[in-house]
Amino acid sequence: MIQHERKHRHGHAGWVAIARMARQGVNVLGLVASGKLPRSMLWLGLDGAAEYVSAIAAGDVCNAEVKAQRDATCMACPSRTPAPNQPSYIGYCGTPLVPRMDAKPPTCGCLLDAANVVASRPCPQGRYVAVTISGE
Ligand code: SF4
Repeated sequence: MIQHERKHRHGHAGWVAIARMARQGVNVLGLVASGKLPRSMLWLGLDGAAEYVSAIAAGDVCNAEVKAQRDATCMACPSRTPAPNQPSYIGYCGTPLVPRMDAKPPTCGCLLDAANVVASRPCPQGRYVAVTISGE
């Protein structure tokens, strides 16, 4: 199932710009450490982020409201695994970076802070669905 949403240009443009910086090799962790990027962007330097950077840079980005709903759903999900040695708001779906889509319940191993930005990515357990961006 796919939901449609209105595009919120402000948040969308910010995510896309930062993903493009990361793809160009900008030291995102250094920018977070120096306070030039918010701590919520720390995930861009972690394992599992790279596979989502291209999608985000290409504009496959949900709005801030959908992102917040997804993050809250994952935070309350028993399948969420906190990232080792990282702030508690960073987590993975199931075993970090190991997709277990045939397990019961299925988990994708995704770095949630990155994956939840990507509009077209659904939760493997159907706790939230893919969205498309209108007005492109
Ligand atoms: S993506 Fe779905 S299954 Fe995975 S942690 Fe989030 S809510 Fe749970």
